[in-house]
Amino acid sequence: MTDSIFTRIIQGEIPADKVYEDELVICIKDINPKAPVHLLLIPKNPIISLAHLQPEDAQLMGHMTMLLPVIAKSMGLDDGFRTIINTGKGGGQEVDHLHFHILGGRLLGFE
Ligand code: 5GP
Repeated sequence: MTDSIFTRIIQGEIPADKVYEDELVICIKDINPKAPVHLLLIPKNPIISLAHLQPEDAQLMGHMTMLLPVIAKSMGLDDGFRTIINTGKGGGQEVDHLHFHILGGRLLGFE
């Protein structure tokens, strides 16, 4: 299987605007932002989607969830933020490498 675009970013083969990194995840700015702040929180382990999670991924998912408000705060999203995970074609997932979208910086209604 070929590496996802996010794995290539994690490996440094493709540049990205990185706002956070640790041993398990990276967080980058989305290349096509839908809000003034639009980030992607991505596990280094190339899990395809929520539908592909295994029991051993529970700790990683907890880690990522706990990071969401920390990263949002570090990006100045004091007013709140939106988190989206698209799963599968029907869910609008374009990149087959699990990621959380973090959006904010304007009032987000139903869109
Ligand atoms: P999905 O539709 O899979 O939930 O979201 C994929 C997201 O990845 C999209 O918002 C898209 O703009 C973003 N994206 C795709 N390719 C790249 C890239 O090469 N660099 C960055 N920073 N974002 C990307």
